[in-house]
Amino acid sequence: MSRSQNKRPAPYNPQRCWVGDKNKICYPDEDTAEMSAYLVEAEHNLPSGTLSWYHCEYGDHWHLANTGDTGGVRRRK
Ligand SMILES: [Zn+2]
Repeated sequence: MSRSQNKRPAPYNPQRCWVGDKNKICYPDEDTAEMSAYLVEAEHNLPSGTLSWYHCEYGDHWHLANTGDTGGVRRRK
């Protein structure tokens, strides 16, 4: 998978977008989304694998979701 992206250096300023009826935080790339998934799991004492991340269909960014809700989109590069 080619990862040719124009990376703009930007301060961390989470964008959000509406997915279904939820306003979700957007993560700029997969690494960030993955890291955030682990962080949130650790913060909330969730079992590893509770959260998945996926590429948004509305824009070039990523979101987190419960693995159970998404049918398991958790994946690694
Ligand atoms: Zn989105």
